[in-house]
Amino acid sequence: DGDLLLQGLGASPGIASGPAQTVGKLDQLDKVGEGDIIVTEMTTPDMVPAMKRASGIITNEGGMTSHAAIVARELGAPAIVGAGTATEQLEDGQLVTIDGEKGSVTEGTVEPDEQTDAVEAVRPENPVKPMTATEVKVNVSIPEAGERAAATGADGVGLLRMEHMILSTNKTPERYIADHGEDAYVEEIIDGVRGVADDFYPRPVRVRTLDAPTDEFRQMEGGESEPHEHNPMLGYRGIRRSLDRSELFKYELEAFRRLFEMGYDNVEVMFPLVNDAEDVIQARNLMEEAGVDPEVRSWGVMIETPAAALSIEEMAEAGIDFASFGTNDLTQYTLAVDRNNEHVADRFDELHPSVLQLIGDTIETCREYDVATSICGQAGSKPEMVRFLVNNGVSSISANIDAVRDVQHEVKRKEQKLLLDSIR
Ligand code: PEP
Ligand code: MG
Repeated sequence: DGDLLLQGLGASPGIASGPAQTVGKLDQLDKVGEGDIIVTEMTTPDMVPAMKRASGIITNEGGMTSHAAIVARELGAPAIVGAGTATEQLEDGQLVTIDGEKGSVTEGTVEPDEQTDAVEAVRPENPVKPMTATEVKVNVSIPEAGERAAATGADGVGLLRMEHMILSTNKTPERYIADHGEDAYVEEIIDGVRGVADDFYPRPVRVRTLDAPTDEFRQMEGGESEPHEHNPMLGYRGIRRSLDRSELFKYELEAFRRLFEMGYDNVEVMFPLVNDAEDVIQARNLMEEAGVDPEVRSWGVMIETPAAALSIEEMAEAGIDFASFGTNDLTQYTLAVDRNNEHVADRFDELHPSVLQLIGDTIETCREYDVATSICGQAGSKPEMVRFLVNNGVSSISANIDAVRDVQHEVKRKEQKLLLDSIR
């Protein structure tokens, strides 16, 4: 009932009260105590330990697919993003309540029994897991969320991001290797993947190679040698960086080789931000050089640019087993709407007809080539997108932990409707 202090976008559901703590630089993260509300411009992977202690998160910038939103949902912590001037308006120690559904920040606290973490707030009404022909998987960004993710009964992991395994060390890959050696770097990746691969075994876990933009790397130790870019989202990230620095990329691939050698045959390899068959062939060749047989292992790409969607036929001919729609980026690049810019957040529409056309056409071509299709962007948790994908014959849908059960039911409903329509 307190006065409304700020309004942003509800990015992770639940209600939390606590003292606000504004953090700027890394050395301020110790300020964040158990149960505090973190207030910051934008979160980065090195902030995750502090985010785990916090009861809630508020960021000035960012949209529904920003780091804070993705990680908060996995931690089950209520979060508000794109709150504008939160860091200027809120004082350290000021008691506030955030509602991660409505996106509101109000003065004062609510009783503990009125506070809900995101886990409770989205607890499925229907506890029964339905059987579906379309597989329903789950996204994992922080390896510690693997167990909670596996408990959803999802058919596998549609996206395991590698970023946190590396950036949580607070070092760029280059610096990490300089300080600890190549083997430690490979081990760091293996450790992150293995936990999740164990949690899900024998269900498949699709692991994506490193994809962090230079502005995220810059926050890390060693980040001073990162190039300065006007548009990091359009810059040196994903497979472009990996192909350009193949001397580093090969250690990621070596981690896969060793995981396979250890018997983790449920691990799959996914390449981010490819544009065309040339990118795919180069990545496949490096994988082969590293000792991972593309004919034996399941590997594929993310469809995150219109160019990738439009060259799916050539990529299918290059031998991919699957293509997964990264709608966070595909929407950003199709509509020219920066996914992290709150000023245009109302224009970030994953259901825009142009985005849907790229997705629909890609699925159609993949079906001709027997390439499996999936979605691992945030939109896979939206009922409208789920209906569209099932209607178009997608092979699997990967959702946020908190959305898996609802997506399973939505898929089931749509499949039954399609079946009824076909026999009527
Ligand atoms: C995407 O672009 O939809 C995606 C899942 O990748 P990320 O959010 O890590 O860029
Ligand atoms: Mg992406």
